[in-house]
Amino acid sequence: MSSFRNFKMIGYVVFGRGSFNQLNDILKPHRKDNRPMVFLVDNYFENGANGLVKRIPVQENDKVIFADVTYEPKTTYVDSIAQQLKDEYGTVSGVIGIGGGSTLDLAKAVSLMMTNPGSSADYQGWDLVQKAGVYKAGIPTLSGTGAEVSRTTVLTGPTRKLGMNSDFTPFDQIVLDPELIANAPVNQRFYTGMDCYIHCIESLQGTYLNEFSKSYGEKALELCRKVFLEKDTWDEESDDKLMMASYAGGMSIAYSQVGVAHAVSYGLSYLLGTKHGIGNCIVMNQLEEYYPEGVAEFKRMVEKSGAEIPTGICKGLTDEQFDTMINVSLGMKPLWENALGKNWEQVMTRQKLRDLYEKL
Ligand code: NAD
Ligand code: ZN
Repeated sequence: MSSFRNFKMIGYVVFGRGSFNQLNDILKPHRKDNRPMVFLVDNYFENGANGLVKRIPVQENDKVIFADVTYEPKTTYVDSIAQQLKDEYGTVSGVIGIGGGSTLDLAKAVSLMMTNPGSSADYQGWDLVQKAGVYKAGIPTLSGTGAEVSRTTVLTGPTRKLGMNSDFTPFDQIVLDPELIANAPVNQRFYTGMDCYIHCIESLQGTYLNEFSKSYGEKALELCRKVFLEKDTWDEESDDKLMMASYAGGMSIAYSQVGVAHAVSYGLSYLLGTKHGIGNCIVMNQLEEYYPEGVAEFKRMVEKSGAEIPTGICKGLTDEQFDTMINVSLGMKPLWENALGKNWEQVMTRQKLRDLYEKL
C-alpha cells in the first residue's frame, strides 16, 4: 500500500481580467437536454454590486439563486437548496458558484447532493461521497481561502463542523477573474487575504512540509508580501497577485496541512460562530510563541492595511464554554501534529490552550 496522496485536482482553469465574459462559451458543452444551469450567487451581489448579476450568461431555463452567506454554510442549507432543485427540475446541468469561500463551498456541496442520497451531513468526513455530483464551476469574488482548488467543502452540521472531503469535491472548472474581487471592503479583503497568508505560514512551518507544498507555499507567501507590505496602494496588480496567492496557498495546504491558528480558530467558530478569515486573524495575533516571525510580519500587515482585528472576544465565557472550544480544537489532530510534531499532546495541554483562548 502506498502512503503518498494521489491528489485529485480541479479540471480546468481560466485566469485573466475579463475572463468571466467567457463563461457562456465555457458552459455551452455542459448544458444537457435543456436542463438548467444553476447560478448560486453570493447575496452581496443581489442589489447590483459591481454590475455582476447582469453579466451572468443566464439562458431561458436557467436559475439564479442568491446564497445567504450570513452564516458559514450549514448542511441544512445545502440540503434545502438541493431538494428545491430536485423538486423543481429532477436534475440540472450544473451548479456554478459565484462568490466568496462560503458560496464556493455551497456550490460544491449542492452539486454533490444532486446525485448522492440522504443528507450532506452523512458525508462530513473523508472519502464518504460515493458518486460524482453534477458539473460544477467556481468563480471566486474574494481571494484567500483556497476553496477554489481544495477537495473539501467546510460545512456546519448537526454534530460537527467538517468538510465533505473527497475526490468528487474539486470543481470541474474555475474562472479566476481578478476584476471580480475589485472594491471588496478593506476589512473583508484583509481577513480573507490573511487566510491565505496564514495557510502559507502554517504550511511552511509545519512538520508535514515537503517540496510540493513548499514550492506553492513560498510563491503564495511572496505574493502576499508584495500585496500587503511592499505596495503602497491597492491596485489591479494587487488583485491579480492576491488571486494567484490564494490558488497557490490552497495548493500548498492540499499537500500538507494547516496549523495552530486554524486549530484554535475552529473552536471559536464552533462556539461563537466567528467566521473563518477574521477568526484566524484574531488567533494569529496572539501566536508569537508558535510562529514568531510570521506573527511579527502579520502585525505589520495589519498596521499597513488599516484593518481592525477584534480583541477580548472570549471575555466572560464560562468554564464549560472554554471546555467546548478546547474539545473542538484538540479534535483537530492532524493540524496539531503538523504544527507541533508527533508529541503535540505533551506540548499543547488543555491548560495551555485555555490560557491562549483567554488571551483572544
Ligand atoms: P465569505 O464567502 O464568507 O464572504 C464574506 C463576506 O464577504 C460575505 O458577506 C460576502 O457576501 C461578502 N463578499 C463576497 N464577495 C465580495 C466582494 N467581491 N466584495 C465585497 N464583499 C464580498 O468569505 P471568505 O473568507 O471568502 O470565505 C470563508 C468561507 O470559506 C468559510 O465558510 C470557510 O469555512 C470557507 N473555507 C473553505 C475552504 C475550503 O477549502 N473549502 C478553505 C478555507 C475557508
Ligand atoms: Zn483557512
